[in-house]
Amino acid sequence: MTEKVRTVTGSSEERLDAVYDTALLDLDGVVYAGGEAVAHAVDSLATAREGGMHLAYVTNNALRPPSAVAAHLSELGVPADASDVITSAQAVARLIADEQPEGARVLLIGGEGLRQALVERGLVPVDSADDEPAAVAQGYGGPDFPWSRFAEAGYAVRAGVPWYASNTDLTIPSGRGIAPGNGAAVEVVRIASGGEPKVAGKPLPPMHRETILRTGAKRPLVVGDRLDTDIEGANAGGVDSLLVLTGVTDAVALLRAVPEHRPTYVGRDLRELLVGHEAPRAENDGAWVCGRARARVRDGELVLERNGADTGGGAEGDGAMLDGLRALCAAAWSAGGERGFDGEVAGAVKSLGV
Ligand SMILES: [Mg+2]
Repeated sequence: MTEKVRTVTGSSEERLDAVYDTALLDLDGVVYAGGEAVAHAVDSLATAREGGMHLAYVTNNALRPPSAVAAHLSELGVPADASDVITSAQAVARLIADEQPEGARVLLIGGEGLRQALVERGLVPVDSADDEPAAVAQGYGGPDFPWSRFAEAGYAVRAGVPWYASNTDLTIPSGRGIAPGNGAAVEVVRIASGGEPKVAGKPLPPMHRETILRTGAKRPLVVGDRLDTDIEGANAGGVDSLLVLTGVTDAVALLRAVPEHRPTYVGRDLRELLVGHEAPRAENDGAWVCGRARARVRDGELVLERNGADTGGGAEGDGAMLDGLRALCAAAWSAGGERGFDGEVAGAVKSLGV
């Protein structure tokens, strides 16, 4: 990261959906989870859209084509067109088209989303390593993907054919738990071939480039739930970000975040798109204050000296929790070096009430 290390969350007097022209929204853990809409996602996104914010959906999952993702979103009550969805399949197809001859044959190791993305770039998907492909493209193929496809990739990569992967997320959330993702499938081919793929998906530049090219965003805000994909990708691209706590990241992980994983804003869920954000400020005695909350590091332990408010829930309770979380982030991020804060955080998180 070339910019100054972020040690406090950002400030915006105006609501975020008025400040940024386009929200680049991650899907799993942000808009939906396990096939269901995340709490407050449908209403918050409708309000942001009515206010003029452009909403785009950015996913590392290469399995489904944008039209299928858009249909799923619309079914959940989030109206979307195929053109509103950007996938890592599109990003890897552009990368291959940039580096390989026009109309090149590409050994397809993946699903319909990747097939359509290759065709859209004028590339010709083939099924066998014997078809003399110029490249191998690997994306998530779904839970029933045949093992023999990995063998096909292995033959081609070992023979020296350039290898590309849509993304390397090791896991993928399913309704029943955590399942192997495309990153795990890439490892299978790596073990068989000894090769090394070029990767397109978040947090890497090809995905960010694809997103900006397709949305035309001038002032984008990345909204995500994962520090090492969504937020790291935003930071690498020099774009502001909002982390929501509805997915894989909890308060402990956020407080321990290394500099490249720190978001501009934090929120409990997508309602925080519709409000302004207060930045914590340093007091002379080393404490950090946000709203009525006050935090510091004392003897290596993160301490919430005063919480935001005495409410037990509801909107004001959420606001108080967020002020506490922002003050704690500032205290932990300022105290933690390049490797992040490694002191005790459990007590502070407990007093935060999340
Ligand atoms: Mg996610």
